[in-house]
Amino acid sequence: MTQKPVPSNFIENIINEDLERNKNQGRVHTRFPPEPNGYLHIGHAKSICLNFGIADRYGGLCNLRFDDTNPIKEEVEYIDSIQEDVKWLGFDWDDRIYYASDYFEQMYEYAEQLIKAGKAYVCDLSSEEMREYRGTLTESGKESPYRQRTIDENLDIFRGMRAGEFEDGSRVLRAKIDMASPNLNMRDPVLYRILRATHHRTGDEWCIYPMYDYAHPLSDAIENITHSICTLEFEDHRPLYDWVLESLGFDVNHRPQQIEFARLELTHTVMSKRKLRQLVEQGYVNGWDDPRMPTISGLRRRGYTPEAIRDFCNRIGVAKSNSVVEVALLEHCIREDLNARAPRRMAVLEPLRVVLENYPEGLTEEMEMENNPQNPAMGIRKVPFSRILYIEREDFREDPPKKFFRLAPGREVRLMNAYIIRCEEVIKDEETGEVIELRCTYDPTTRSGSEGSTRKVRGTLHWVSAAHALEAEVRMYDYLFLEDEAAEEAETGALELEQMLNPNSLVTLTGVRVEPELADAAPGQRYQFLRQGYFCVDPDSSVENLVFNRIVPLRDTWAKIQKARGGKK
Ligand code: ATP
Ligand code: MG
Repeated sequence: MTQKPVPSNFIENIINEDLERNKNQGRVHTRFPPEPNGYLHIGHAKSICLNFGIADRYGGLCNLRFDDTNPIKEEVEYIDSIQEDVKWLGFDWDDRIYYASDYFEQMYEYAEQLIKAGKAYVCDLSSEEMREYRGTLTESGKESPYRQRTIDENLDIFRGMRAGEFEDGSRVLRAKIDMASPNLNMRDPVLYRILRATHHRTGDEWCIYPMYDYAHPLSDAIENITHSICTLEFEDHRPLYDWVLESLGFDVNHRPQQIEFARLELTHTVMSKRKLRQLVEQGYVNGWDDPRMPTISGLRRRGYTPEAIRDFCNRIGVAKSNSVVEVALLEHCIREDLNARAPRRMAVLEPLRVVLENYPEGLTEEMEMENNPQNPAMGIRKVPFSRILYIEREDFREDPPKKFFRLAPGREVRLMNAYIIRCEEVIKDEETGEVIELRCTYDPTTRSGSEGSTRKVRGTLHWVSAAHALEAEVRMYDYLFLEDEAAEEAETGALELEQMLNPNSLVTLTGVRVEPELADAAPGQRYQFLRQGYFCVDPDSSVENLVFNRIVPLRDTWAKIQKARGGKK
């Protein structure tokens, strides 16, 4: 059933107009057409949300189609990961999973049809000659000497191409359009090439393969797609898309229409699969799902939720001009999602030992803490407190600067949901001079929630009880590229990747101490570590060896960017 929602972007405007004219008998059918030559990234998420989202909003359908016309770069591993990622994002293609390679036979027949209509010919120019003949933006091209071959001769040679009679690269099938066209894509583009490569689905059945510009409109038409949404760089290819369908007799009111939108680019990262593959293959990251990667699988492992990614895709909107989106917005989306949902826990990333000299030995008290102050329904938990504790090393300064309200010699702080303590003595390593322990006293009348707890101090610290804490590893992630310009240059290939990567994009902390409640933290679970940020249990984690990934720190730089821009959305 077709619905007609209030349009939320220019594409929906187009669809609404089409529905009004009853184009395609009022159907809305989109597709997401990844080439299986890498893992999906956040840019693909934008396209997935757009295509599946439109189908949802209009009560239409969206296909998943693998655009597998290039046998050389494609692998089954990618096909599997793409399906997993689309599902994880929350979308469903039902039984509509297709492969462009399923249509090779049909595409071949359409090619013969073009030849028979005098609209395609076999060309024997070498690729170098073809480049020369093509002309430039300012100069029109020259017609190939093979352009005047007869239909019969063309058919005969093209069949020979399919039958494997010619060498790879020796001939191509070209569309006969216009060598003087101002649009270079229309200067007799190549439709088929000879290539002996084993295809992951069709094996060695074919030694000719269709080009993208020919295969894509046909795949869309064969699947009865109504709106073929792609990124802006295909705008100049649209006349060719239409030419293919027009030349094969597809009626303009019942055939797919190509609509282009701006691709997503993000600060601090690269988005092209070629660059991402380079990062993986050259070992700059630990695989496609490395939590620093902008891939869906990397974001998932990092701890992003599908809800946050979908929210992000909605907020960035769909436009017709390219722009770079601040990664801070993506981070804002996950913070907002997890702020509402993630349980709070205490974790001391860089522990400093604190001994409460006046606290009874052997005593353990249980301090009640809310699991999520944003959501009281998440309940409370009891956190053990005892004589020896850990606090964050950076929460103590022997020589506190102005405005440092945390712990220092002679000063008091509150331990969160526990007592006020005072630092009485600083113990140092005799050789290195490093602070290794604080001797403190606690004020027994200040237990949180008790009557005497009205006394105020300026600093409140998180802590764990040494005897009860669990040890963990925490992987602190930062941007792959420190400078936005660096990511941009890496993308364009102006500089080598290596020169621009952030050397500190991963800092691994071992010996982290976390509260015992985290003993059963299972891979994929997400938490807010109080005062630290949001963290997710890594798949490498086990009961014996807890491993957390930092998703984002607490500080929201997006809010700051917005404020600087005058608070507009
Ligand atoms: P890349 O340049 O990263 O290799 P691609 O466009 O070649 O990307 P495809 O697998 O062909 O990758 O893309 C599948 C679909 O996703 C296409 O419709 C494409 O337009 C869309 N897409 C790819 N990258 C982005 C992006 N950064 N933003 C929005 N959509 C994208
Ligand atoms: Mg592509």
